[in-house]
Amino acid sequence: MRRIILSAAIALLAMACATQKSGDNERRIFVTIAPLQHLAEELTCGDFSVELLVKQGASPETFEPTSSDIARLSDAEFVFSTGLISFEHSLTHNLGDNLVDLSEGITTLGGTCSHHHCNHSHGIDPHIWTSPRELRTMVRNMLRALMSHYPDSAKYNASAEQIIARLDSLDSYCTERLGDGKQRAIMIYHPAYTYLAHNYNIEQIAIENEGKEPTAKHLVELIERGRNMGVRAIFHQPQYSTNKLRSVADELGAEVVVTDPLSFDIESEIRRVVDIISKQNE
Ligand SMILES: [Zn+2]
Repeated sequence: MRRIILSAAIALLAMACATQKSGDNERRIFVTIAPLQHLAEELTCGDFSVELLVKQGASPETFEPTSSDIARLSDAEFVFSTGLISFEHSLTHNLGDNLVDLSEGITTLGGTCSHHHCNHSHGIDPHIWTSPRELRTMVRNMLRALMSHYPDSAKYNASAEQIIARLDSLDSYCTERLGDGKQRAIMIYHPAYTYLAHNYNIEQIAIENEGKEPTAKHLVELIERGRNMGVRAIFHQPQYSTNKLRSVADELGAEVVVTDPLSFDIESEIRRVVDIISKQNE
């Protein structure tokens, strides 16, 4: 299914970009996390080779760029970062104008700040890429950076419009599935869907307690809240352990569902998560 959506996206991409080049390119863009990679490739019509800093399977929370990473990033024409994950702060000190903070213009939300990858500027939740509205702003910020170097490039504008139209329809889809006035919750180990929950009025119940394993007391409260909210699915990220999650799932008779907020195809992942959340209360 994902592949189908992705190839459909690539077919569309060929329409906005007059010529689609292959990946072996001198010009380079770095993105800090995987969900930004396809977006950057699509936006730039394959004109750049787009490389990923935090490889799949690695956790951005514990990631530390090495000096050779910094050297490679320095050579890239653009480095697209969320601007909110803690390792990205060291990039601010080490890189110049090529570092693009994609959170510009986004109203950030608070998080629990023992959250490992929490921003140093106090309690900001970094997960802006898991909601279509914030993602749309991030694409606009990518475009603005590109246009500062290539002011005459109409194709980047055209492909941005195409991506934004797709994110608009994802936004409408989320509203449609979640906006029927029913009370809904997403229960998840690590609270990676804060912006999605905020935008579509669902409650995010994190099993992790301020970045740490939950205590017995916290678990009892979670089960109570989950029961009240009709939780039927508990989301689990591949980057975290499932120990505590199973006992909560058993108590609630809920299913454990894997979600990867660091998926390359974040749009499909958002759609899938929204489907599961909306089905809980049908
Ligand atoms: Zn996270």
